[in-house]
Amino acid sequence: MSKKRGAQPELYKRNVIKAARTKGIGYVNHSGREINAVKIGPDCGCKKLCFKRISEHEQIDIFTKFHDFESKNTQDGYLAGLIEKEDVVRRRPRKSDGQPKPRALNYRYHVVTGDAGRVEVCKKAFCSLFGITNERVRRICHCVKNNVRPCDSRGRTASTNATPQEVLPIIEEHIKTFPTKISHYSSK
Ligand SMILES: [Zn+2]
Repeated sequence: MSKKRGAQPELYKRNVIKAARTKGIGYVNHSGREINAVKIGPDCGCKKLCFKRISEHEQIDIFTKFHDFESKNTQDGYLAGLIEKEDVVRRRPRKSDGQPKPRALNYRYHVVTGDAGRVEVCKKAFCSLFGITNERVRRICHCVKNNVRPCDSRGRTASTNATPQEVLPIIEEHIKTFPTKISHYSSK
């Protein structure tokens, strides 16, 4: 890319923030607020003993590998591959009034460990081990449910308010006309 970093400090800053969020490292956001680095969350404490079944070394490994992915899209695609939807088959699909019962959909969450391979964990442990929010998991589950690839809504928002490359020279040309106008008015 021939683009100079210094030429677009805002775009550069946006990319730095985006990369930091993908990596889970600390950064200062657009409003100047300091965002802490992401860490492995608390033990789920559930009866499946998810955290006990995965050694501390493996937990760090899971977390580190995930945050080493180059983009949030890759991370989301990876997460989607670890979530399985499960239709709960109802024995009696129809009630007495003839209305079909709503289908229940369960999700099964997994992590991949070096020792045991794919291991099922609860949703809380899934969030904790990757250091991700419930909301992100909910969004990915929605994609899994509809058999679509998880898309980066965050990245899309960023690109819509980014100034397209073609428009920049036009804006620059326009800005150049300003001093002339000002001197024109001030000379009166
Ligand atoms: Zn658990």
